[in-house]
Amino acid sequence: GTADVAAAANANDGRVLDIVTLYPRDMNIYGDSGNVLTVRRRAALYGFTPVVHNYNQGDEWPEHVDIVLGGGGQDQGQGTITDDLFARSRQIRALADDGCPMLLICGMYQLFGEYFQTVEGDRLPGIGVLDLVTVGQPVRMIGNLVDHTEEFGDVVGYENHSGQTFLRDGGRTRPWGRVDADGTGNNGRDHTEGARYNAVIGTYLHGSVLPKNPRVADYLIGEAARRRYGMERLEPTAQGADELRRLDDLARRAAAVAAS
Ligand code: GLN
Repeated sequence: GTADVAAAANANDGRVLDIVTLYPRDMNIYGDSGNVLTVRRRAALYGFTPVVHNYNQGDEWPEHVDIVLGGGGQDQGQGTITDDLFARSRQIRALADDGCPMLLICGMYQLFGEYFQTVEGDRLPGIGVLDLVTVGQPVRMIGNLVDHTEEFGDVVGYENHSGQTFLRDGGRTRPWGRVDADGTGNNGRDHTEGARYNAVIGTYLHGSVLPKNPRVADYLIGEAARRRYGMERLEPTAQGADELRRLDDLARRAAAVAAS
């Protein structure tokens, strides 16, 4: 079911949050669907009624969109969804410009840029939400990664990609964070990781990233609540507070292991 936690009667009164997950059939590797589960669960613990819309090629676009989540995929999966994504690009760009929170991982992150050129030299067009380009090369970048971000502190996850991503100078897109000298991140050269524009976050961190970094999940939910309902802060339900504490504790322990 889409709303498996009965929302308690707190300030939210079970207000709906519409979560769109982009192309889960083709773009969902290394546990990225865990991001959807995390946002759905935490939204419920804050008293919302989360509704998850699985959007695959040819589906109808949901009437309301509060949060957009997209996972990674092989080059082949990216090729499969490119045409449909391009057909939706105006809607998605408008949402991003309007402050709709989004989290895009790896393969979908690449396609939110200007283009992704595969290691074979095929160029897949991106939708230009983020001012960046990605070029595949033969050496894959693989391993656990700590992204030092200013907004969320250290964010931990796992990367596995051949594409090197370069942010455009002077664009409206800025790096999400920085990686240590031995980390690769966007490209293995400039020590940047991920990208930020408005409430959009693009990153190479699989993991799933949100269960280990719940602050980021709460940021997405908080921005959605502000944009749709004008709410200034998240308030756990009476039953939610306990579970959120347990989840945060679990996340701290998992993040410590991942970062070690
Ligand atoms: N195919 C892309 C790359 O290797 C994305 C891979 C992924 O999503 N993990 O660059």
